Amino acid sequence: MDTPRWIWIFLGIVVSLIIVFRVIPLALKSMRAKIQDKKCKKTGHQLQGCLCTLCGVTVHDWDGCTCKRCDKTHAEQHEWNGCKCQKCGKIRGEQHDWDGCNCKCCGKSGNHEIDGGCVCKRCGTKQHDWDGCQCRRCGDGEHDWVNQWTVDSQGFGYEFRCSKCGQER
Ligand SMILES: [Zn+2]
Ligand SMILES: [Zn+2]
Ligand SMILES: [Zn+2]
Ligand SMILES: [Zn+2]
Ligand SMILES: [Zn+2]
Ligand SMILES: [Zn+2]
Ligand SMILES: [Zn+2]
Repeated sequence: MDTPRWIWIFLGIVVSLIIVFRVIPLALKSMRAKIQDKKCKKTGHQLQGCLCTLCGVTVHDWDGCTCKRCDKTHAEQHEWNGCKCQKCGKIRGEQHDWDGCNCKCCGKSGNHEIDGGCVCKRCGTKQHDWDGCQCRRCGDGEHDWVNQWTVDSQGFGYEFRCSKCGQER
């Protein structure tokens, strides 16, 4: 079967429209940005906050972990004092200064003294040790049983399976 000529003409028109309206403007834009970036490097960016209004480049003024101009932070440069950055106040999930069950520094609760029933001896918080849907210590937890048809060597079957952990009943 021959492809009608008009399809090729139509495709040609579509492709040229895409080039004219999408590809060329994008290319021009990035070219202009590159030229402007070079100019900016000589004369200095015209910053609004940390964004150059001329070339669109972002220039932060880092002081340790924080930018002096905007509220952006540098992940590697924090000055950690235990769990908290002295500079920007960011909290990390390690080196807490535990006072009983709460961190003196950030107030996060944790470090519980859990007995066999998964209850903290100090503050009464419940904390399970989850393995899939069930607690390793106390066996608490609930599976989400769903029944489904299965096919195996013995033919059709009907089984209950947990939709969360995949365990069979
Ligand atoms: Zn610039
Ligand atoms: Zn900045
Ligand atoms: Zn910081
Ligand atoms: Zn802490
Ligand atoms: Zn506790
Ligand atoms: Zn438990
Ligand atoms: Zn389960």
